[in-house]
Amino acid sequence: MKVGIGFDSHRLVEGRPLVLGGVEIDFPKGLAGHSDGDCLLHALCDALYGALGEGDMGEHFPDTDPQWKDAESSQFLMHAAGLVSDRAMNISNVDTVVIAAEPNLSPHKQVMRERIASILGIAPGQVNIKAKRPEGFETAAEGVIAAQAVVCVG
Ligand code: MG
Repeated sequence: MKVGIGFDSHRLVEGRPLVLGGVEIDFPKGLAGHSDGDCLLHALCDALYGALGEGDMGEHFPDTDPQWKDAESSQFLMHAAGLVSDRAMNISNVDTVVIAAEPNLSPHKQVMRERIASILGIAPGQVNIKAKRPEGFETAAEGVIAAQAVVCVG
């Protein structure tokens, strides 16, 4: 059994679609980034790479590579999940925290959960998403969405 942890954060900016957990959310701003900026999927990728001792996302998909400009982060997560399969291992569960002052993510948690499960090839019951507001550090977190992820593979 191996455990991995991941963290990521991206800024909300005008003129970008908001993609989080592999789902496009109707909101006036989106996450800045070389790819689609999906910090939840990036945290999950890093958690999987971490569990496997495979470094981090930047090593696998450098943000200086034009190939990944505006790329859908689902393909990064599929790559990480593929490394799990390559080792004849399975994902037991993934747990995540998304920290965002806005938008309200509660209405989107279930569809994100289903989307992540689909990308990883596991059941929605093996994926958990917790949406938290940055209580007490609202100023520091203004205009940012951050995510943490833990995975267990075995
Ligand atoms: Mg990122």
